[in-house]
Amino acid sequence: MENCIFCKIANGEIPSATLYEDDDFRVILDLGPASKGHSLILPKSHAANIYELPDELAAKAMVLAKKIAGTLTDGLHCDGLNIIQNNGEVAGQTVFHFHMHLIPRYAGQKVGLTWTPGTLSEEDKQEILGLFA
Ligand code: AMP
Ligand code: ZN
Repeated sequence: MENCIFCKIANGEIPSATLYEDDDFRVILDLGPASKGHSLILPKSHAANIYELPDELAAKAMVLAKKIAGTLTDGLHCDGLNIIQNNGEVAGQTVFHFHMHLIPRYAGQKVGLTWTPGTLSEEDKQEILGLFA
């Protein structure tokens, strides 16, 4: 995909701080980290978002996330870790090449990932359950 910065990074055309690489993925440090160790899992083939990501890569991405999360947690002694994946501008996506954020969390250090809980209405519940019936 021409002019996709994450395609270029994932395929090594643009240098990055690479933590891990295999045939399908590159894992890099985020240039604007939310916390120490904030990393991004990038597939080497272009998919704009989760809707476009092939099932096989989706499955591999989660296994890889587990591996990287373990190494970050053991090495940085973080107290927890968020895995975030944004799809669409309205959801906060700014680079339109699928990626997963791994964000180590440290006790006492605030990272703004929270939302205000709403209430689940009966109408919404029935509508959504109906999608999967
Ligand atoms: P998102 O908002 O989910 O699309 O996340 C995009 C992420 O990519 C942000 O956390 C940026 O800090 C990060 N980012 C953008 N450009 C680069 C780059 N060249 N190298 C590393 N991280 C980047
Ligand atoms: Zn791309």
